[in-house]
Order: sequence, then C-alpha cells, then structure tokens
Amino acid sequence: MKQLFESIVSLAKRKGFVFPSSEIYGGLSSAWDYGPLGAQLKQNIQQHWWKTMTRHHEDIVGIDSSILMHPRVWEASGHTENFIDIMVEDTITHERYRYDHLSEEQRAKNISPKGNPLSEKKPFNLMFETAIGAMKDTAQKLYLRPETAQGIYVNFRNVLNTSRKKLPFGIAQVGKAFRNEIVTKSFIFRTCEFEQMEMQYFVTPGSDDEWFQYWKKQRTEYYKTLGIRTSHLQLHPHGENELAHYAKEAVDIQYNFPFGWQELEGIHNRGQFDLKQHTSYSGVDLQYFDQEKNEKYTPVIVETSVGLTRLVLMVLCDSYDEEELENETRVVLRMHPVIAPVKLAVFPLVKKDGLREKAHAVFKQMSDEFSTEFDVSGAIGRRYRRQDEIGTPYCVTIDYQSLKDNSVTIRFRDSMKQRRIRIEEIADVIRASDKAYVRMGESQ
Ligand code: ATP
Repeated sequence: MKQLFESIVSLAKRKGFVFPSSEIYGGLSSAWDYGPLGAQLKQNIQQHWWKTMTRHHEDIVGIDSSILMHPRVWEASGHTENFIDIMVEDTITHERYRYDHLSEEQRAKNISPKGNPLSEKKPFNLMFETAIGAMKDTAQKLYLRPETAQGIYVNFRNVLNTSRKKLPFGIAQVGKAFRNEIVTKSFIFRTCEFEQMEMQYFVTPGSDDEWFQYWKKQRTEYYKTLGIRTSHLQLHPHGENELAHYAKEAVDIQYNFPFGWQELEGIHNRGQFDLKQHTSYSGVDLQYFDQEKNEKYTPVIVETSVGLTRLVLMVLCDSYDEEELENETRVVLRMHPVIAPVKLAVFPLVKKDGLREKAHAVFKQMSDEFSTEFDVSGAIGRRYRRQDEIGTPYCVTIDYQSLKDNSVTIRFRDSMKQRRIRIEEIADVIRASDKAYVRMGESQ
C-alpha cells in the first residue's frame, strides 16, 4: 500500500499534476502547487460539484465571499475559543502529534508512535493570524478563514433579500481555507492552505433530521456518479465525543486511501448555533419570517463540506491502475471523462504528407469544446501510453485513409478498443460515451 501511494505521488509530480510549493527554495511541506494537469483537474472537479449543487438544485444559489472577515465573526462562531487541537511532543525526537490522532494504547501509555514518553498536552489554535493596516500599533488583528461556511452565514440576510428564496434553500461556495495544522501529511491530504466546497442548507426547525438524511444520501450518490469505486466509500457517523462544538449530528463520508480510511467529506447538522450566535454578536436579526405560518424563527443548518484538494487526491488514488499487458505494464488513470484534465488527444500517424496539417485542423476544431492535446512525437503506441498515464479518455488518430474519406480512428482509454468514425462524428461520440461512462469493474 505504501508502494502504491508512492507510485501515485511520483506520477502526480512527474506528469505535472502537483509540485512542491516554492520548490526551488527547498519546498514548504504544508502547501502545494498545481501544475498544468492538476490545475485543470481541480477546475473540472470544482465545476462538476458546482453544477451538481447549484444548477441541478433550483433551491441552491452560489456566492463567493472574502477570505478576510471581521474578527468578531470568529468570536461568534466559537473559533477563537474552540478551534483547537491538542498537541503533544515526543520528548526524545521532538516530533509533534495531534493527541486525537494517537492510538488508544499510545494515549493510555502516554507514549509517541516511536515509543518515547510524551510531553504535556498543549492546546493549539488552528487559525492563522494576520493584521490589516500599515502601522503596527494601530493594525487590526484578523484571521485567514479556517472554513468558508462563515462567509455564507454572514450573507444569509443578503441572499434572502436579493434572491427571494424561501425555506428550505441552500447557499454554496468554493474557496480557500487555512488551518495551521499541527501535522501536515500524506501529500495533499492535509495541508495548511486548501480549498473547500461547502453548501449550507437552511431548513425549518423540526425538518432538519429528514434533510440531514437527504443530504447524506445525495452526497454519497454524488461519488458514485463520479465513477468512484463504491467498495472504497463508507459512512462514519460521529460519536458524542467526536462532535464539533457547533454540531448536533455529523457523519463523514470516508474513502479508503492507500494509507487507510480517512474523511473525505463531512455532513453536519449545525442546529441553530451559527445564525443565533451571529444574531447575538452582530445585533442584526437573522431570523426568517415564515409568511405561511406568520411567524419568525431561526432556521436550522445542514452543511455538506468537502475539501477540493482532498478530492483531487482521492480521484488520483481511485483512478490509478497498473495493467499487465503482454510485454509491459500499462499505467492508466481510470478517471471519469467529465473530470479528466485532457479529454481528447489528436495525433497524426506520421508528421509528413499532409497528415500533420489535417490532424492540427481536427485539434483546432475540437479544442473549443474539449480540452484537447496535439501530439506528434514518438510511435503511436508511446503516445497512447502517455495519454493513458494522465487519464485521457479518447485519442483520435489521423492516417492516410483520413486524407481520402475524412475518417479517423478513435481509441478508448479503458478498453483500448478502436473504432473508425467520421471527423464530423467525433464530438457526438465523445458526448455519448461520457454519458454512458461506467468505471471498469463496477455495475451501473
Ligand atoms: P480533521 O478533524 O481531520 O482535522 P475536520 O473534521 O475538522 O478535519 P472539517 O472542518 O469537517 O474537517 O472540514 C471539512 C472538509 O474540509 C474535510 O472533510 C476535508 O475534506 C477538508 N479539510 C479539512 N481540513 C483540511 C486540511 N487541512 N487539508 C485539506 N483538506 C481539509
């Protein structure tokens, strides 16, 4: 399993999905940069989530709020007081650990994973502090937001007034969040700077249990539509001692990463906590006036929250496959074509006799609708392998026959099957094939 993860990380770096942050200065372990393929993959996943949450749900709208917010927000939300992890140190190696990440045995014996005695427990606030203003003595202390959700709560009234929504309705947002994690690890799994995709659904008190179940189901289904192996997904309901300070009920969608089952997404019933806190701290009434019932009340919030960058890692892990062929091992990323960073690669069989020009014309024609790559170098087999390794679902080859009758071969990544089709059909074949996509070995 360790070897599998190393292969995935190495492919991600080698192919330009992810680079270490500021690598020429030795890198920064808690942050990563996304290369040409990684940036496109991230954007595709984000757009897919956004479309699923907003366009497919007429009762959900999107916003984009700022990273820097009034410091009172974090007092009201409880983050200044409660957004704390307990840190312990190995007294010999001085390595730091999150106390809740140690095993029961290590905690009972008060030893580190290396078997050495642990230091005293120290609370550690995860929020990054910064200051606004030029003068040190008058600068105002601010925080980089540790979650995007608060930007939604403080805009609850603005959205209600401008979008004419009635309960139940949701607000979605994608954006950066920052946490001063005690330990960052497992490549891009846990980082100090990351992106979240969150949706806050506002409901009438009393209907929240039902909506919690609804979103649990919707979000689990989502991963199936994304072609993720169902055997690698499970739900983990939070016990009393795991619940965050604001949560009434919570469940994690976990994924079986090569380093074990870990949280991918959290679904939380946050009760009336957030809106009541902001009402009391800001003095602005964030209750909802229910015209039908002719009464005012504070809505209950059901939240779905997933890390975009964590989802990128999950997609890389889930799609990575090594397939034994006759004389070689084929490395292939079997990711859903809807999120593949390169959708289509176009090749001329050879560079000469007008094939290159014809292939380039096809590339130009396709690249408006699909993210398309044009590749002329190396044997066709080598070009296919290069595209397999980055998850390109379709490759089109222009050969001598194409010059005569405008036909091409289209080759499918997972089955490696080829079909002869006309140039005018390429887009339709891709659209139909995207729609019918089922992950190899999974039933529909
Ligand atoms: P943990 O207890 O593991 O630190 P959490 O349960 O506090 O995390 P949430 O606050 O529920 O995490 O965050 C919602 C989602 O945001 C997580 O499911 C995860 O996908 C993502 N996320 C949280 N922290 C990080 C991080 N440091 N790096 C990358 N993604 C993160």
